Amino acid sequence: MDLAPAPNGESSLKNPVVEVEAVDMASAEVEESLATENTVAIEAEGSQSEYETDSDDSDWDDQSLFEDALQVIRDDQLRDGVVPGACTLDEAIAFRNRLHEIGKAAFVEETIARDTVTAKKLCTAFGIMPPGFLEGAPDQAYHPLLAIAISREFSRRPKLPQYNSIDDAVKLLQQSKNIVVLTGAGISTSLGIPDFRSKDTGLYSQLEHLGLSDPQEVFDIHVFREDPSVFFSIAKDILPTENKYSPTHGFIRLLQDKGKLLTNYTQNIDNIEANAGVVSEKIVQCHGSFATATCVKCQHKVQGDDIFGDIKKGVVPQCLSCQERIAQDALKPQGMKRKRSTNGTHRGRKSDGEDSSEDEDYEIPTPGVMKPDITFFGEDLPDEFGRRLLHHDRDLVDLVIVIGTSLKVAPVAEVPGILPRQVPQIYISRTPVSHTSFDIDLLGDCDVVVSELCRRAGWEFKHEMIPPDEKVDITAVEGYESRHMFKVVGA
Ligand SMILES: [Zn+2]
Repeated sequence: MDLAPAPNGESSLKNPVVEVEAVDMASAEVEESLATENTVAIEAEGSQSEYETDSDDSDWDDQSLFEDALQVIRDDQLRDGVVPGACTLDEAIAFRNRLHEIGKAAFVEETIARDTVTAKKLCTAFGIMPPGFLEGAPDQAYHPLLAIAISREFSRRPKLPQYNSIDDAVKLLQQSKNIVVLTGAGISTSLGIPDFRSKDTGLYSQLEHLGLSDPQEVFDIHVFREDPSVFFSIAKDILPTENKYSPTHGFIRLLQDKGKLLTNYTQNIDNIEANAGVVSEKIVQCHGSFATATCVKCQHKVQGDDIFGDIKKGVVPQCLSCQERIAQDALKPQGMKRKRSTNGTHRGRKSDGEDSSEDEDYEIPTPGVMKPDITFFGEDLPDEFGRRLLHHDRDLVDLVIVIGTSLKVAPVAEVPGILPRQVPQIYISRTPVSHTSFDIDLLGDCDVVVSELCRRAGWEFKHEMIPPDEKVDITAVEGYESRHMFKVVGA
């Protein structure tokens, strides 16, 4: 489906064959050589996306794979000249602009084909570090990588030039009526909730004793099916806290109160949005949540609270419905219940001699395990995500605010590219991302950023974690018109 017009130049792409080929080659090559490092980005491999991104012929899974597997050069590294042989930031920006201006084929013709720059150096203009294993190889060896770099840059949503300042951000907040808010772990960390999917957190280091080859196996559905106790040994540590919410959750609630919140897509499973009073109709929990749980055997569903007791004790919760059925089964006439012993002979449960067919063999009945409805690696994402995004939000949204996520994990990572390109996008987080262009980057503690935005918008915003007399200092990030750093004065 045609979601948004590509930047100019798409139609001038006369000779895509070489590039497409090159991308395929690189996919196989890079995937193979870096196959062991890609655990995070392929999280959504099981998801059935009904939408397409607005990128050309590229496959998102591959893209996000490279995102993680390839070493990225940030713009500030280019600016500071710390990567030997790389473009300067000015050169890089000029190359990027030129690409969007004339299209992929003409750009390749003008650069590589005319030998005006090497492929190795050109990769750096698009933020890709030439990998060590290609060192010393002829420049042609970098072509596949460059093809990916060019493709990725070209499909990137171009920044809207008219939005840059804090005042622009405040005005957008005030004027917008249908805001899509994308949130990630960063909005809950001020409550002491670990970013448990990230490898760098303490939580994962606590998992070493579980003997897992990769800590993410805790959230692997195959591991869960084999031994649910692995997950339940740590589940109590990530169980939602009651009645707490961060100022950022409060900000989302405020948008709702002002009638401006279209949808909050959250990657968090902590369900804290509910604590803040965001109504469930406004929330899509992209990775599910602890709010409900389902029996893995009979699909019996219960409220999350029903199993929290077991979870807190570190016990594997069992399905009551299964238990009931097993108990009823036990009352049924004998002969319907037989077990095949390990040597293949039959053994009557209570009495022998009854005639029975082998078809009636059965396993010792055990109740199913209750699995919280959070999305594990290898599981499909909730349908609600794509449905709401495409059939509800896309036509209504007038502002996108991304808070506390590095947007590296699908499907949320795809959202900025799926929504109409003319809709302004604001990014609020500690560190900027380089793989997606936002119109305005507001960097710092997201609780501080949102409370300052409210102050400037003239909105009353109260939260116990925000001192009423808080003063926030905002400085422009050198070299960027639209990037601003927020810091509490005296902090
Ligand atoms: Zn059950």
